[in-house]
Parts: sequence; structure tokens; C-alpha cells
Amino acid sequence: QLTLDNVTKTFQDDDGEIIAVDNVSVDIEDGEFLCVVGPSGCGKSTTLRMIAGLEDITSGEIRLGGQIINDQPPARRNVAMVFQSYALYPHMTVRENMAFGLEESTDMPDSEIDQRVEEATKMLGIFDLIDRKPGELSGGQQQRVALGRAIVRDPEVFLMDEPLANLDAKLKAEMRTELQHLQEDLDVTTVYVTHDQTEAMTMSDRIAILNDGILQQCATPLECYHEPNNLFVAGFIGEPS
Ligand code: ATP
Ligand code: MG
Repeated sequence: QLTLDNVTKTFQDDDGEIIAVDNVSVDIEDGEFLCVVGPSGCGKSTTLRMIAGLEDITSGEIRLGGQIINDQPPARRNVAMVFQSYALYPHMTVRENMAFGLEESTDMPDSEIDQRVEEATKMLGIFDLIDRKPGELSGGQQQRVALGRAIVRDPEVFLMDEPLANLDAKLKAEMRTELQHLQEDLDVTTVYVTHDQTEAMTMSDRIAILNDGILQQCATPLECYHEPNNLFVAGFIGEPS
């Protein structure tokens, strides 16, 4: 179980304090697919970044399997993040891109890294592209490499920040199905930020709706739709995207 316990994040800027995430508490079950939605600036990315350890929390606690992880460095947290802009290294091949994180942050033997990379590329249907560089790949293929980089870590939790946002509609629909199958097969807890209402309604076990850093509701898509906690949720979930 991944738990956010009264997690708050404030930033300091010229005009004073910004509360990006305001006292958010949520329990995410093992294997659950949780979508995080809400208007631009509501704190979605900040929430993911705090779980990943890319951002310190201001107060509260983050626990994974009962262990406090918010004081641990990112590489030790057993979570893996997939970004919207795939953040692949242009000078490295697919194989090198996927192996890099493991080489840097673990003492895993090369043979095991190799094996994990090859398995992940097969799972993602990009094994034949393993010696190409990102510039020689389509957007969808690059997205698969970015996913592969998370998969090889064999994490307890996937954190995805609008991973399909850069893809066209057809590819997006395809990748959405693929991602769902992958998540089910790997049975890995997933926290998935999206602007896409369809994505949230169809992919998630539960949806967490944020506004102004405050968690408005965390419930199944149907509950959010039929029994919204407040007018904001009703308006947001009812809205076509
Ligand atoms: P989007 O949908 O546009 O990606 P978001 O929900 O991911 O938005 P965040 O990026 O989490 O929003 O930002 C939440 C709030 O925190 C915003 O008001 C943002 O301006 C502010 N913020 C985020 N990062 C920083 C930072 N490093 N310094 C100051 N303020 C920040
Ligand atoms: Mg964001």
C-alpha cells in the first residue's frame, strides 16, 4: 500500500507562499490504477514528484508498504517515474537508455541488466529497435522506451505524468490499451496523471480529483460521476475533454 498522509507542499515565490499540495491524504492499494486529474496548476505533477522523491515534502508523510519513504533518495524508493517528454538520452541506444538507470543506481550485474532490458523490449514490442537511438524512433516507440526504462527497475509503483499527451489520437488509444494490459500483467500499483477524461474514466480503478492542491474526491469513476462530493467534482467529471 502507498499512503499519502497529510502531505503538503509549499513553494516560496516573490508574492509569498504558494500551497501547491494542501494536506492530501490517500491510501493506494497494491496493484491499483489511480488516475489523478484536475485543472492546470492544481498540484498533480508536484504530488507525483514528491512520491518519486524529486521534490521534498513540506509536511506529512509518504509510506510504501508501511515504510516511510519521504526521507529516502529517489533511487531507493522502489518507484519509477515515466514523464510526458520522454527524457531519453539522444546519444544512447534504446538498450543503453533502458540500462542506464540500473547501472547508475544499483550494483546489479551487467548480465542481469541485459536480461531485464531484453525482456522489457520484448514485452513492449521494440526488441528489434534495441540498437537504435531515440532520434530514429517514432513518438510511440520512444514512449515505449520510456516505459521500458521504468519496467526494468521492477518497481512497486509506476508514476506516470501524462505519458500519452504527446501522441496522436489513434496511437494514444492504442497505447492506452497496451498500458492497461501491461499494468495488469505486471500487477504494479500505478499513479497516473492525465488531462484526458476518457483516459481517467476508462483506465482507472479510482480517480483522485484535485483542485487548488486540495483533494476533492477519491473514488471509482462511476462514484465520481454519479455521486460527486461537490459541485467542483460534478462539473469537472461531467465536462467533455
Ligand atoms: P499541469 O496540469 O499544468 O501540469 P499540475 O497540476 O501538474 O499542472 P503542478 O506542476 O503540480 O501543477 O503545480 C502546482 C502549483 O505549484 C502551481 O501553482 C505551480 O505554479 C506551483 N509550482 C510547481 N513547481 C514550482 C516550483 N518549483 N516553484 C514554485 N512554484 C511551483
Ligand atoms: Mg503537471
